[in-house]
Amino acid sequence: MIPANNIALKSWLPYSEDSDFPVQNIPFGIFQTSDKSPRLCTRIGDTVIDLLELAEAGLFRHLSVEIEVFEEPFLNKFMALGKKSTNAVRNQLSSLFALDQDSSLSGDADLQKVAFHQISEVEMLLPVKVGDYTDFYSSREHATNIGTMFRDPENALLPNWLHLPVGYHGRASSIVVSGTNFHRPKGQMMPADAKAPVYGPCKLMDFELEMGFVIGQPSELGSSISTEEAEDHIFGLCLFNDWSARDIQKWEYVPLGPFLGKSFASSISPWIVTLEALDHFRISGPEQTNPETLPYLKYSGNKRYDIKLEVLIQPEGGEETSISKSNFQYMYWNMCQQLAHHTVNGCNVNAGDMCASGTISGPTPESYGSMLELSWKGTKPLKLKDGSERKFLQDHDTLILRGYGEKDGVRIGFGEVTGKVLPAK
Ligand code: MN
Repeated sequence: MIPANNIALKSWLPYSEDSDFPVQNIPFGIFQTSDKSPRLCTRIGDTVIDLLELAEAGLFRHLSVEIEVFEEPFLNKFMALGKKSTNAVRNQLSSLFALDQDSSLSGDADLQKVAFHQISEVEMLLPVKVGDYTDFYSSREHATNIGTMFRDPENALLPNWLHLPVGYHGRASSIVVSGTNFHRPKGQMMPADAKAPVYGPCKLMDFELEMGFVIGQPSELGSSISTEEAEDHIFGLCLFNDWSARDIQKWEYVPLGPFLGKSFASSISPWIVTLEALDHFRISGPEQTNPETLPYLKYSGNKRYDIKLEVLIQPEGGEETSISKSNFQYMYWNMCQQLAHHTVNGCNVNAGDMCASGTISGPTPESYGSMLELSWKGTKPLKLKDGSERKFLQDHDTLILRGYGEKDGVRIGFGEVTGKVLPAK
């Protein structure tokens, strides 16, 4: 589908082989500069490409996609066009950038001058207007770790866990783009030896390593999306950090689930990598025969993805320390099953809705996706490069998630999502 001959391209749009953004990626995002209002863009190497400029130059004219969708401050209207249109735009971009001097873009220096920007010179904005946000709990290793720590190692998974993708409705208003810092949340907590709850800044500040998927094509209220149809509705993916205040969460969550311990902030990476770009990294899923899943959750084909994930802590003014290496493949329930379950009762989805995977933990302690698990409830502090230790996150710590797929010499990445914990206000 995507031409592999990038040699000519590299002479006029340089990028390195290990970039997360080769010509095969073509992710979508929203940027602005001091001269340009927010609009759609893609990225190759460290070059951000203004899609409104390309549209106004007529490069998408034959695709019957209105120019207006490129002038939006969010991807929602573009994504809602559906895969047929958005893939046509993506394929047109692939040909524009993969062909040699015959491309109408490679020979047009004036257009390149107005449409190309260095990533360091633009501001990347929140790419989607998130209407609804749902967080799942679909990594078996993570759910087993939590069950082992807080309940019973013999019965770590609750009775429903292997029968359905457990999830909850999260808060959309506080989803922020990478680089947005936030203040340590305050709230109610119940210390272990106390007789009454206390109020104050949370002490057990944590992150959650997750991937988010964004809905493109909407569904109608009262109808369901099957596992077969799910990929038509999933526009693409991003890195997702579901910041968590563990002490607030522990006291409040019974019986209705997470509330203020989660809703103060969740951070996403600015580039939405399309499902099509990730096709190369599909892998088969786990056996789901013990117990056997219900028919509406059965699926065919490879629905998991081999995406390498890494978590790093950077103390104020210090260097980064890698604290975990995980993989998006550590999921028991895949995205298609999650979306089928989400809509099986007739609940509709809209363009821009965000669904997050749940914390992605692998089978070994080096691959756990939260401080809670990495420090095992604070009993095993992590050592950073500067010699300091962490059980949970401290004020002024920056937490970084990175992720990419790599296979047969092709690397397709998400870039990163960062956020810094500021002191409580
Ligand atoms: Mn979560």
